[in-house]
Amino acid sequence: TVYYYRDRFIESGREVVPVEERAFNYGDGIYEVVRFEAGHGVGLTEHLERLRNSAEAIRLRLPHPLEKIREIVVEAASRVGAGAVDVYFQISRGEAPRSHAFPDAEPVLALFARPGKTYTDEFRRAGVGAITVPDERWANCWIKSLNLLPNVLAKQAAVEAGAYEAVFVRDGFVTEASASNVFGLHGDVFYTAPAEREILNGITRRFVIAAIRDLGYTLKEERMSAAFFEQEVEAAFVTSTTMDMMPLNSVNRRKLPPPPADSPLWAVLNRMRELSRSGVAV
Ligand code: PLP
Repeated sequence: TVYYYRDRFIESGREVVPVEERAFNYGDGIYEVVRFEAGHGVGLTEHLERLRNSAEAIRLRLPHPLEKIREIVVEAASRVGAGAVDVYFQISRGEAPRSHAFPDAEPVLALFARPGKTYTDEFRRAGVGAITVPDERWANCWIKSLNLLPNVLAKQAAVEAGAYEAVFVRDGFVTEASASNVFGLHGDVFYTAPAEREILNGITRRFVIAAIRDLGYTLKEERMSAAFFEQEVEAAFVTSTTMDMMPLNSVNRRKLPPPPADSPLWAVLNRMRELSRSGVAV
């Protein structure tokens, strides 16, 4: 694992964070995770733009111009190697005596990079289980904030239920999952929640939407009711930088059979991969 803190690459990721660091005390900061494949940062430009938007949303000044952050991220990935690499990077409002209002402090970049987990086609065909949980998060889930306590609790509930992901339901509708976006498939029609304030507009989600449109399938960018998602979808999957598209094999106690070889889901998966590797903007 490669580590970076404040202004340099460091040997160890331990014992570097001041006790009064605002990321640590308040979760006062934002983050991104980027997957590199063969040296290419998948959607890196989009991740950096989202970082800038998140920073503006919480009135956080970035410690460096975006181009400099890009260079550090690329450097970190290349130090790990040329295979699948995940780079996690966060910006906090910095170190200052604890007091809620904004401090007079320098924002701090912290980063780690390590080999990314990949999944076999076989694993993906088998899929993973999901449960639904109440979405108890705040009103600005479009910001990629460090505050992930509700996500942590939701994921833990999934693990304890023998599932992999927890799908949030707000006011009777599916928003997204604890660390991914959610899609449903009914006939040849794909469904996913619109990119409004209650979800993070995933970069993988955007590549998937581009692939769906490219292949001529219908996308309904509208919220699925929990009843529709739990009982009626023929297939469902979650999307994220580290998983790309992962089919669900169950939602609560309902089993979802593996999508057949000619399912639009697999066509979209393949097209999404091509698009994300091509560097097309989404
Ligand atoms: N939604 C949430 C809550 C997430 O934490 C994530 C990623 O970690 C996503 C969606 C997927 O976003 P992306 O595809 O940009 O990784």
